[in-house]
Amino acid sequence: MRFVEKAHSFISKHLSIGDVCIDATAGNGHDSLFMAKLVTCEGSLFSFDIQAEALTETKKLLTDNNCMRQAKLIHDCHSRMKNSLNPDLMGKIKVVAFNLGYLPSGNHKVITKKDTTIKAITEIYDWIDKNGVISVVAYRGHYGGIQETNAIQKLVETKNYYYLREENESKPQSPVFFKIYKSKRTD
Ligand code: SAH
Repeated sequence: MRFVEKAHSFISKHLSIGDVCIDATAGNGHDSLFMAKLVTCEGSLFSFDIQAEALTETKKLLTDNNCMRQAKLIHDCHSRMKNSLNPDLMGKIKVVAFNLGYLPSGNHKVITKKDTTIKAITEIYDWIDKNGVISVVAYRGHYGGIQETNAIQKLVETKNYYYLREENESKPQSPVFFKIYKSKRTD
């Protein structure tokens, strides 16, 4: 299974109709669409990206699939996510998805960065539901990717988050999938 599929399988176990969720890296919108379908128009999805082009693609995909009603697209860095969230949502977010790195079809120079990624994960952790999860697919093949992945590992260890780490042990450059839980769960 590819890492994106692993992430979808994880997300689908934790998201239901009416839930609130976040796509922290909207990109072409595939993760946003996947989550928007699970929560339906009874729930809500907030999708962030620093590239306007990415949000244009995401909006198109969600519109074509009749999923814009539950979605709010926000052109901002995910380290500032909380500025766009109503304080009522504190403790109510079920899933936050990060698919790090760059957009394969876009500008490869626009990549997620260690410091903003760490700030984003740390801050949004306080907003997730007691059974909520954060899904992070980190890539080690691009410039700064190893440092970013190591920083996430250090974060989950120092903060004592419950987490599971998956990777292809035989390939040091393979992506790393972090499943981060608010409460101790292993599914
Ligand atoms: N989930 C996407 C792929 C994401 S690619 C999909 O399914 O298609 C990573 C995305 O993160 C890119 O679109 C890039 O613009 C965005 N990005 C990079 N740094 C960011 C930041 N600091 N805040 C929000 N988005 C960021």
